[in-house]
Amino acid sequence: MTSLRDLTFQELENLIVSLGEKKFRATQVFSWLHKGVRSFDEMTNVSKALKDKLSENYYVSTMEIVKKLESRIDKTKKYLFKLHDGNMVESVVMYYKHGITICVSSQVGCAMGCKFCASTIGGLVRSLTPGEILDQIIFAGLDIGERISNIVMMGIGEPLANFENVCKFLNIVNDEHGINIGYRHISLSTCGIVPKILELSKLDIPITLSISLHACDDEGRSSIMPVNNTYNISSLLDACKSYQKVTGRRISFEYAIIKGVNDTDSHAAKLASLLKGILCHINIIPVNKVEENSFEKPNDERIKSFIKTIEKNGITATVRRKLGSDINASCGQLRKNNLERM
Ligand code: SAH
Repeated sequence: MTSLRDLTFQELENLIVSLGEKKFRATQVFSWLHKGVRSFDEMTNVSKALKDKLSENYYVSTMEIVKKLESRIDKTKKYLFKLHDGNMVESVVMYYKHGITICVSSQVGCAMGCKFCASTIGGLVRSLTPGEILDQIIFAGLDIGERISNIVMMGIGEPLANFENVCKFLNIVNDEHGINIGYRHISLSTCGIVPKILELSKLDIPITLSISLHACDDEGRSSIMPVNNTYNISSLLDACKSYQKVTGRRISFEYAIIKGVNDTDSHAAKLASLLKGILCHINIIPVNKVEENSFEKPNDERIKSFIKTIEKNGITATVRRKLGSDINASCGQLRKNNLERM
């Protein structure tokens, strides 16, 4: 059985026509799915005959909210969702002036092994289907009762290690018959799987690419991000340049700043010179405390000086505003804590 929300509009239309029904039925079914129905019964203007035919091979997925934490400081909401097979993923809803943003997961766990990250501690369990990525937006949206207008793929998992499903998800969520979120309102964050960045650039969809750089040289990067042993910084930046050439989009570089590891002014100057010539912005993320490792964030003064040094070298950098600090809103930790209790 396949979840109907795994289908693109085109696939659904082909399916419905192949079942001997009129094309416009696809518009109706797709629209119900994206409004968040939990069963065929809720599709009130669709004939029983069509629903019976669809239900032979397809089901309408649901996602259960196992836990919901709500920040008293800034309304940020963090969800722990249970998938149909009992696995859990996290999503975070954040309220910005420019609209409501959701951070979604793309896999259950992660195989990338970044040393500072909570999501990778138990390894990869499995990848999410396109519909399971979409369901996070649909069911969080229903829970808050407001339209979610922006998506960041920065939750649990490495999106480019689940390339096909993620691309299909992007197609579905962007479709005008459904939720219809514009590509320009979507960011995808990757630890740097170079061949997939190149493949993504060929698709020429104007999403924002975020690169988790976190270091200014190969030695430093490899010591905290194993992926760098396969795709080093120079191959990664070449891929970023290709991406930029095709899409014309500014690239966003993430830099988790860690006390005593990558936080000196000389790291900052090196970082700036590395990125010279790329239209980009650097997001500095003071590293979040994860119990399993000893990484700590530098003090505010150090961070300010780091940013000043970058800017002196002609590149813009800002500290990522931390939302939901009272609910531990960085990803991976809620799922992990829940696993430990089971
Ligand atoms: N796998 C993707 C997306 C997931 S994480 C990627 O690597 O980009 C989203 C961002 O949070 C990444 O930049 C990741 O490196 C960063 N991150 C993970 N753990 C962190 C921590 N403890 N403190 C600060 N940033 C962290």
